[in-house]
Amino acid sequence: QYPVYGRIDGPIVIIGFGSIGRGTLPLIERHFDFDAEKLCVVEPDPAASTFLAQRDITHVQEALTPQNYREVLGRLFPEGQGGFCVNLSVDTSSLDLMKFCRERGVLYIDTVVEPWAGFYFETTDNAQRTNYALRQKVRDEKAANPGGTTAVSCCGANPGMVSWFVKEALTTLARDTGRVTPAPANRADWATLMRDLGVKGVHIAERDTQARRRPRPRGTFVNTWSVEGFIAEGFQPAELGWGTHETWFPENGHSFDTGCQSGIWLARPGAITRVHTWCPTPGPQFGFLVTHNEAISISDYYTLGDVSAPEFRPTCHYAYHPCDDAVLSLHEMFGSGRQQSVHEILDESEIVEGIDELGVLLYGHERNALWYGSRLSNEETRQLAPYQNATGLQVTSAVLAGMVWALENPQAGIVETDEMDHARCLEVQRPYLGPVEAHYTDWTPLQDRWEHFEEDIDPSDPWLFRNVLAS
Ligand code: NAD
Repeated sequence: QYPVYGRIDGPIVIIGFGSIGRGTLPLIERHFDFDAEKLCVVEPDPAASTFLAQRDITHVQEALTPQNYREVLGRLFPEGQGGFCVNLSVDTSSLDLMKFCRERGVLYIDTVVEPWAGFYFETTDNAQRTNYALRQKVRDEKAANPGGTTAVSCCGANPGMVSWFVKEALTTLARDTGRVTPAPANRADWATLMRDLGVKGVHIAERDTQARRRPRPRGTFVNTWSVEGFIAEGFQPAELGWGTHETWFPENGHSFDTGCQSGIWLARPGAITRVHTWCPTPGPQFGFLVTHNEAISISDYYTLGDVSAPEFRPTCHYAYHPCDDAVLSLHEMFGSGRQQSVHEILDESEIVEGIDELGVLLYGHERNALWYGSRLSNEETRQLAPYQNATGLQVTSAVLAGMVWALENPQAGIVETDEMDHARCLEVQRPYLGPVEAHYTDWTPLQDRWEHFEEDIDPSDPWLFRNVLAS
């Protein structure tokens, strides 16, 4: 009863079989026509072997490295056969893999601009450790080699789906404020609509309430998706897209004078940088300003005018409240200065309650703020698709949507999700997102503070980053 969206003729290679790879597999099997013997998984961890063998799926038990990736992928994607490379691993260079696939005429998708192993902790220059720098290299490759075989960059939940939500939220806000505007046709139209609606910025506002019965053991990092990925990004500098409405610049802030220039970074790890934000379930809450590709891409996409002196640009950043066990894990890790050696990803069978509430909070406009997003529970997830929790399904269904879009647009070159047809992608993804809702709120970052203590804030505009950043 599931729609089949198209046929993949050549090999399908899934790289990485962790929480996201495992959850993506059943969606590929459900929604594409392909030759089963041409599906394989590249995964160094032997723990995946039994699962894959039971399903007759070839397991290439190797870790891709800068030295071997051309040989390994060259073997798996013979010249002239096309195919699809689905990169869901940590520690492999998205840029190198995407370049190789495009040379071979192989469609490519990933969920993050990932570097080779070692990059996150061995790079000493913080500006080079940013997502800005990682993303800019992919944008430079797109500019140097426009068009050609489609490679979809950063198509998970966030980065990914949230870029489609921004467009849905803008359309909702335009309708609810009585504007009759023609549907935006291109990037300039979308940016103009955002500016004309008075949107000053966007939080990627997430609250994950998934929990299991057993308390978190000390010395264990618990999360609902890649622990390795979360630790790596948590130790990167906090980063955000820097909007034109900002009147103050953080003392520890740094901007860039090359590239799209939409983002800045703070000389502080993102996972201990807190911001005031809002989600439907908790209302006001602290989120962590963890660096993410979408903070840079969204503020870039919606820029009007010259990149170095824009006429309009929104502020944009992640405001992430991970599951409570992950908050405690971060607290322990940063407090002790030591990464836990035991990593656990909560799986769908042990989670006893909770949802992943992931959306975009568009703020500063005449209706104050609008949250638009998915409020998917683990319980519903178990009915929808196997081998994943709610967090996983929000990611894997975006991968599915991105794969469908790539098959339908095979010569689109390197694209980010801001540049794809959001309506088509959400059409494919929507059945897997649980309740997708729009919520207006009159909350602002000036509320719910501590009136007994003076703070360095600016009440002239509640939505300045100065007020959002928790001291
Ligand atoms: P995970 O840690 O559960 O799994 C990663 C897998 O990659 C592991 O099984 C590991 O053995 C494998 N791997 C490690 N080195 C490899 C190499 N050199 N070659 C091949 N495989 C290798 O992670 P996950 O939760 O499945 O996440 C996978 C990726 O997706 C991560 O990069 C993560 O940051 C990203 N992600 C993106 C989003 C989003 O919304 N955009 C959300 C969640 C995860």
